Amino acid sequence: MDTRIGFGYDSHVFKPGVPLHIGGLKLDHPEGLAGHSDGDVLLHAITDALLGAVAAGDIGSFFPPGDPRWKDADSAIFLNLAMEELHHAGYRIINIDTTLILAAPKIGPISEEMRARVADLLDVEMDQVSIKAKTPEGLNLDHVAQCHAVVLIERVSEPDDLKSMSDVIESQRQLEDVVEDLLSSVHGVPKKRVSVYDTEDIT
Ligand SMILES: [Zn+2]
Repeated sequence: MDTRIGFGYDSHVFKPGVPLHIGGLKLDHPEGLAGHSDGDVLLHAITDALLGAVAAGDIGSFFPPGDPRWKDADSAIFLNLAMEELHHAGYRIINIDTTLILAAPKIGPISEEMRARVADLLDVEMDQVSIKAKTPEGLNLDHVAQCHAVVLIERVSEPDDLKSMSDVIESQRQLEDVVEDLLSSVHGVPKKRVSVYDTEDIT
């Protein structure tokens, strides 16, 4: 069996007055996670694990920091891109295991709903997705949410003759075309061209 493993990590700081998005769900909590996108720390870690498993770069190489199009973006966009890379490479997900580290809110009561949501986003069965959570004991990081994710994948077909997006993207302009297609397919956002970036990590 031709298998590969991928690992992803992400962290975001809590910020009052913004909605809290974790695992594709909107949670009831007085603070959300700061980020240029919706700050979904779990989906970002899984995205990086998937991209890492097929050696296709990371979330930042596809979604340039500071791009105003990612303001409050639904992180399902990032996950969709990672799944496209996986399929291009001829692989499918065997299973995903994750650990969220955050002081609050409690994830236990909603972990099943979160697993179902993530499985739905990835088009896999619920028993292929594990979501665990713990508090940051001894780390003095109660104001931060972190997530670790590992994914195991197996080859199910030959790689596409078409080049994967990470191979195609050789210039900023090509990258913009790819992200515009993703945005318009996931969000229904009209295509427009923006080319001002800064170096802040926004995803
Ligand atoms: Zn992130």
